[in-house]
Amino acid sequence: MSELFHVGQCPSCRQGWLILQRNLSNQDIYAHCEECELGFITPDDLVPPLNGFLTVLDKYDYETENPTQEEISRTVWANFIVKEVP
Ligand SMILES: [Zn+2]
Repeated sequence: MSELFHVGQCPSCRQGWLILQRNLSNQDIYAHCEECELGFITPDDLVPPLNGFLTVLDKYDYETENPTQEEISRTVWANFIVKEVP
């Protein structure tokens, strides 16, 4: 089973974890809330006013996979608090 990494609680709904996901169409690693389906491309997008995008829209219809800790360490999320989802 692959590991999941999150960068804290969703600042929008305050219910879901922001799970890091890799967009396989452009290789971006972004944070995705599984509760409200918002995505955040960079840590700055998590700061009010929030700059999230609704991941369920058709134009965001792409394949994703769970990035490894090594891959995360090479992105803008590297210095963010990343924890493994239990
Ligand atoms: Zn949310």
